[in-house]
Amino acid sequence: MPLQDIKSLSREELRKFLCDNGHKPYRAEQIYVWLFKLMMQTYEGMNVPAELCRLLEQNFRIKSLREELKMESLDGTVKWLYKTADDLPVETVMIPTETRASVCVSTQSGCAMGCAFCRTGRMGLNRSLEAGEILEQIINVCRDFKVTNVIFMGMGEPLMNLEAVHRACVCLHDQKAFSMGKGRLTVSTSGVVPKIAELLERNTPCQLAVSLVAADNETRDALMPINKTWNLTELLKAIDNYMEKSGEWVTLEYILIKDKTCTNKAAENLIRIVKPRRCKVNAIVLNSNENPELQAPSEQEVNEFLELVRAKQVQINIRNPRGRDIFAACGQLARAVV
Ligand code: SAH
Ligand code: SF4
Repeated sequence: MPLQDIKSLSREELRKFLCDNGHKPYRAEQIYVWLFKLMMQTYEGMNVPAELCRLLEQNFRIKSLREELKMESLDGTVKWLYKTADDLPVETVMIPTETRASVCVSTQSGCAMGCAFCRTGRMGLNRSLEAGEILEQIINVCRDFKVTNVIFMGMGEPLMNLEAVHRACVCLHDQKAFSMGKGRLTVSTSGVVPKIAELLERNTPCQLAVSLVAADNETRDALMPINKTWNLTELLKAIDNYMEKSGEWVTLEYILIKDKTCTNKAAENLIRIVKPRRCKVNAIVLNSNENPELQAPSEQEVNEFLELVRAKQVQINIRNPRGRDIFAACGQLARAVV
């Protein structure tokens, strides 16, 4: 059995482990600060008794990812390719804007959901990541940049790995660790309906985004296999329930695909869904993918679509694609060597 990553432990679990092994409970806070504020990646630098250092070394790995490749886009976006201890690929992206640096983290190596437009989906799933492996992606970016936001939108379906995603969010929010407000943490899901309710129950410190992608069942069925398990009616019910109970807005992600989701009819369907809910919609033009059936609409088609939607006072933002030249844009994370 390979060792567990120490960063996967909650503060309480670490405290219990230390007490069970005859150490003082306050050491847990110290170790947390070393791990998540000073971002140490060896035990040697930690100012603890040699005996405790050995205990930690024997029980927990402190570093899980090896950097294989780092690429920088012309627009400043940076993508890292890592390998886990068991040699599986994981990708992380940092997206800078004038005021922010957002880290897009992977929650799984690959993804089992099989969306037709997504390169990660084509890979299939290797395995879910541990919380420590998710947090390490952020720690690595923090070494080079001042990270302001974390988005769980890299490889994988976060809600199929909710335990680790929850732990990562709690640590990111923790004053003794990253100390990030929950408004700066966004978890995106393709629509794992029962897990949306669980996110609410667990009170995971994050905001929720849902990849609506298409606004009618027929189109969504053809693009996202998950829609056959939980259709739009069920998904919208889960979203409404989440918004009502949490008092927070859910952001909807919409992908503009030629002749499919960028038509007049599609605009009507989208308006019907969004208008009564007053959700914010982030639209993104389809990035290149491996499916010849799916093409990006022209600029004119995109503008016409946006006008139709905005004419009904529905708030829709169009997101600029970032990092396309290094395959770092949405849906392009699949260990592509450029
Ligand atoms: N699995 C989660 C989070 C990761 S996918 C989810 O699906 O929400 C991150 C985002 O990229 C999703 O909103 C997805 O709809 C979008 N995406 C995937 N492939 C894309 C592509 N080819 N072009 C544009 N956006 C894409
Ligand atoms: Fe997985 Fe999200 Fe890609 Fe769908 S869009 S295959 S859920 S990563």
